[in-house]
Amino acid sequence: MTSGEVLLMSVSRTSVLFMLSWVVKQYARWPASDAAALAHQELITTFAEVVQARAVLDGVASRMIGEIERRELAKQFGATSTGAWLTGSARIDAGPARRMVATAAALDSLLQVSAQLGVGEISVEHAEAIAGSVAAIDTACPNLPEVGREVAVQTLLDVALADPPAAVRRKGRELLLALHPPELGDDPAEDTDRNRFDVAVGRNGRGMIRGDLDAATYEKLLTALNPLSKPRPESDGVRDARTASQRRVDRFADLLDAYLGSGVGPTEGGVRPHLTLTASARDLAGCGAFIHDLDGPDPETTEPDRGSYEDLFVQAWPFQLAWMGPLSAEAAQMLACDCDLTRIILDGKEVPLNVGRTERVIGPYLRKALVVRDHGCAMPGCGRPAAWCEGHHIVPWAQGGETKLSNLVLLCRVHHAAIHKALWEVFLGDDDHPWFIPPPMMDPQRRPVPANNRRGTRAAA
Ligand SMILES: [Zn+2]
Ligand SMILES: [Zn+2]
Repeated sequence: MTSGEVLLMSVSRTSVLFMLSWVVKQYARWPASDAAALAHQELITTFAEVVQARAVLDGVASRMIGEIERRELAKQFGATSTGAWLTGSARIDAGPARRMVATAAALDSLLQVSAQLGVGEISVEHAEAIAGSVAAIDTACPNLPEVGREVAVQTLLDVALADPPAAVRRKGRELLLALHPPELGDDPAEDTDRNRFDVAVGRNGRGMIRGDLDAATYEKLLTALNPLSKPRPESDGVRDARTASQRRVDRFADLLDAYLGSGVGPTEGGVRPHLTLTASARDLAGCGAFIHDLDGPDPETTEPDRGSYEDLFVQAWPFQLAWMGPLSAEAAQMLACDCDLTRIILDGKEVPLNVGRTERVIGPYLRKALVVRDHGCAMPGCGRPAAWCEGHHIVPWAQGGETKLSNLVLLCRVHHAAIHKALWEVFLGDDDHPWFIPPPMMDPQRRPVPANNRRGTRAAA
């Protein structure tokens, strides 16, 4: 090597570092609005270049992390590890920081992968996925011949060059299964001992769920949640506004309703599990003392009555769920629309005097008649199958509404809630079928729309 070559290398390194900082400064100064100024083709091309540049820089960062680790610089700066140093100095979360260090170390022995990352053909997430898969293979098959390992790495790299990192991880799992048929439950994805399903009540009274499931159980969950979670256009073909996540929750609630309603569950104290709501008939009818109209008496002219506030706050809230506790009057009235009812008469000291038989509010014959008339959810544009629907009392039974066909409408849970929130109104038309009045924001004139299975029917009135 001549001194000229050494000089050339050193000049080129300096200029690369200079150019790098220059480019970074240019991009930092580039106002976001400039993206809006780019023509379509420019936008697409520049975006691809930025993605590639980011991968190249990630590759450089990864090699630098490897070097920092080799020189044990973190200890010199008083950190316990390179990962901890990254967390402190570069403000990277502990998990990702640890993964960056592990990937940097793995790339030392994965030269083809390192080379593709170096030119930005794969992303650092791809490199992480390959490194993770190879590490799992190394652990499971310590005696794999070098040539086998090379083919495995190349196979993963080929996937990375064509598909996203998730596809690399999936291929990695396939390779692992092919190389090392696991004992039943030995494979982490299939290990049921690791399963967790935690439920907790949040501070705001909502339910929190966190789970970690084996592949087969998770597959069952996805299968059960999938078919009916597809977006459902609203009336007039308007796009379903619910996100995929919201649709999944609706489907999950449908599943629970179907299960609890099917009566196949095990019994508890002789009773099949149901949602249990305790409420007095008086409160359900909305005439209990709990209704406190703050806008009612004019505060200017009426003296605030301390006693009535004491009554309001001291008495127990009248609507209580067995597990979750207090529930709003509105939600209680919606649950009461279509439920199993047990009447319990209390004496003056709130001790049960008489327990009546449990009866379905909407009995099986009436429900059949309701399904024959409405087919499925009657809300215009919905029509969800009857199996996912509830009967709604147009005049609540607790307020004297009769449980008969002319006071009932079949509605899916989402639209049942929409009616109870008074977004839409429903009434029985002269044709003895339900008619719906849309909210003013949908139709300022609030013209009635026929039930879903009666599309095209003209208003009789
Ligand atoms: Zn209802
Ligand atoms: Zn519906």
